[in-house]
Amino acid sequence: MPSLDAARTLILDQVAVLPAETVPVLSAVGRVLAEEVVMPWDMPRWDNSAMDGYAVRSADCAGPARLRVTGFLPAGGLPQGAVGPGEAVKIMTGAPMPPGADAVVPVEQTVEEDGVVRLADGVRWGAHVRRRGEDLHAGEVALPAGTLVGPGEVSLLASAARLEVRVIRRARVAILSTGDELVAAGAPCGPGQVHDSNGLAIAAAVLMAGGEPVALGIARDDRAALRNLLERGLAADALVTSAGVSMGDRDLVKEILAELSVRQIFWKVDIKPGRPTAFAVRGTTPVFSLPGNPVATLLTFEQFVRPALRKMMGHRQPIRPLRPAFLQEAHAMSPGRVSLVRVRLSRRDDGALLASLSGNQATGILKSILRADGIACIPAGQGRLEAGHPVGVQVIRAGFDAGEA
Ligand code: AMP
Ligand code: MG
Repeated sequence: MPSLDAARTLILDQVAVLPAETVPVLSAVGRVLAEEVVMPWDMPRWDNSAMDGYAVRSADCAGPARLRVTGFLPAGGLPQGAVGPGEAVKIMTGAPMPPGADAVVPVEQTVEEDGVVRLADGVRWGAHVRRRGEDLHAGEVALPAGTLVGPGEVSLLASAARLEVRVIRRARVAILSTGDELVAAGAPCGPGQVHDSNGLAIAAAVLMAGGEPVALGIARDDRAALRNLLERGLAADALVTSAGVSMGDRDLVKEILAELSVRQIFWKVDIKPGRPTAFAVRGTTPVFSLPGNPVATLLTFEQFVRPALRKMMGHRQPIRPLRPAFLQEAHAMSPGRVSLVRVRLSRRDDGALLASLSGNQATGILKSILRADGIACIPAGQGRLEAGHPVGVQVIRAGFDAGEA
């Protein structure tokens, strides 16, 4: 039975980066560039004013000076002529520098009266001028392949007049819930039945990871139905099932996957909760069989499925890093395996992270996931941890630096 780390390595070794596709820039947000973006022209494209003020010749302005105002240049305007000796042109931020001028004096440092502007102080050559190409040069690689696209990248693409860009495809993830006790969320629940919350919860986690969920619905613990749905799921980029892999004698998922030429990599992982997590592949299509218990489903998705999807979608750092924190209260654990503990995070006065249990850690308690900011991964071999003990925490909620690239 692999450890948490060994299981993740086995998974990441099997999955491959998905093909690229060309999409409109806004569809690229949150995805990884599959091409390098080269700047087609200088940015800015011409010398321009960084301030509202007066374009002047610095040679005229070694000290206090009086200059004749010969024109006005708004942003979007074009210089009508050169600025000659003893002259100034009123200029707005972003307007191209007129020939002859080599500096801008901010309007706050001037007084204009009867077509003459007075400057109280001298002006440095180049003051308040943005130089052509000072940001980016024509031919420069502005965005290397592998870059995660966010608002800044979209700003650059827009400036480069790129309306489309090549990115790694989003992973399509088929999701199947198994179990005779399940009814679709929203349908009336009879005695002994439970709503299929995992199907939607996994879909939500897939969306948050940047993938596209493909709902296969609920499979009865029935051979033919299960086989049919698993086969459909294998056509996606990844398949995630929940329940049906533990010790129950009706747990058929494993058996049918084997019939469909899916190669099992592991059956169980040495973690708590989440031990009955299985991983298999057909070609490079990963198949995750997560435990049915909703808390275990989400915790194991986070540990195993999300890193795989992120690798497939081209992210350089697929696994959430462990942030150093200190336990706020003592906690007893089963010493044999890695424990995944749901924690709330806060900051100590010195800025260090404090982790306190987000509630009852029993696998049946969903509430302690709702309240959790992170998952503390506590190594095997620790029976009881005292308050103040250092722990590594994966940050799952915005608001605390998750440390992801
Ligand atoms: P199993 O993995 O089949 O032993 O299921 C463990 C527990 O998870 C049982 O209480 C199931 O009823 C519950 N469970 C299984 N699948 C789902 C699901 N899709 N949604 C909500 N609960 C589930
Ligand atoms: Mg079951």
